Amino acid sequence: MKARAAVLRSRTLPFRVEDVTLEGPGPGEALVRVAGTGFCHTDLLPRTDRLGVALPLVGGHEGAGTVLATGTGVHEVSVGDHVVMSFDSCGGCRSCLAGRPATCAAFFTRNLTGRHPGGTGGVARDAEGGEVAAYWFGQSSFATHCVVPVRSLVPVPRSLPLELLGPLGCGFQTGAGAVLNSLGVRTGSSVVVAGTGAVGLAAVMAARAAGATVVVAVDVLPVRRELAAELGATHTLDGSSDALAEEILRITGGADHAVDTTGLPPVITALVRSLHSAGSCGLVGVQHGDLIVDPLLIAAGRTIKGIIEGDAEPRLFIPRLIDLWQRGLFPFDRLIRRYPLAEIDRAERDVASGAVVKAVLIP
Ligand SMILES: [Zn+2]
Ligand SMILES: [Zn+2]
Repeated sequence: MKARAAVLRSRTLPFRVEDVTLEGPGPGEALVRVAGTGFCHTDLLPRTDRLGVALPLVGGHEGAGTVLATGTGVHEVSVGDHVVMSFDSCGGCRSCLAGRPATCAAFFTRNLTGRHPGGTGGVARDAEGGEVAAYWFGQSSFATHCVVPVRSLVPVPRSLPLELLGPLGCGFQTGAGAVLNSLGVRTGSSVVVAGTGAVGLAAVMAARAAGATVVVAVDVLPVRRELAAELGATHTLDGSSDALAEEILRITGGADHAVDTTGLPPVITALVRSLHSAGSCGLVGVQHGDLIVDPLLIAAGRTIKGIIEGDAEPRLFIPRLIDLWQRGLFPFDRLIRRYPLAEIDRAERDVASGAVVKAVLIP
């Protein structure tokens, strides 16, 4: 199968849209024609040495599209189905069997190396026949087409705007799932969200949808604080304040829940200090540096919890997010700006600078 794909060949050069050849679909896989795919901050990780992601790589892991063909043994989706592509998982480890694929024992190898854990599948060929890693989160969807393990596919109704749905498979699922699945936010509770990118704003919207009566959004950018307020935040605070914890305490009297999407230890420390004594703080995203927390805060009953992909089972959770959206409670489409795949360089710069909340590439 011939396709066009955005290939990252160097950690410092822009993605380049090239002709590639895809193999398959093999057993348990589907070939998907991509309608749109989000640019997530995690798509910037292959540019760093932190993970040692294989290059060259086709990036992209927030795709949505139409099933064009299925391999042997595929019964979950059929040709013509509209699908959101989410993260990959093994299906057989303790977490997967317990319905928690985001903590799959093979999560790292299946999603963050670019290579199929079996070593053979998930590879595209460039025009010279060279190998290009094409298993980024099992999908590598910065492309016109991709071959995807069927476990990561979520069928969605055909009446929906397919090209916008991909980010439900990662960024929006992560923020909303942190609130609805991991922290269990309930009616009447108070929630603090630090960092109002796509993940943080999804957490803000989900907190309001869950009935939280106080939602404090924290960001250094005034424009993002305004957007958070439009989407349901009852209070906003400047994240660069030295008195962040005290300001949150003044508003909430001790927050029930906090979600950090910044990865910055001083912000996380302030969030933990601002919690009610039985409160919980979820950490989402990529953290840098050492976290120093007074252990007495934890001894008193507070919880700090790492959260991957919103603890979501995508086939259950993405339909739930679509239902919230249809009822006007989760207007994620307001955060999206479309870019042609050929302009991926501009989209990446706008994501990195914060000029756009969620870029969606249209191949
Ligand atoms: Zn597993
Ligand atoms: Zn992501």
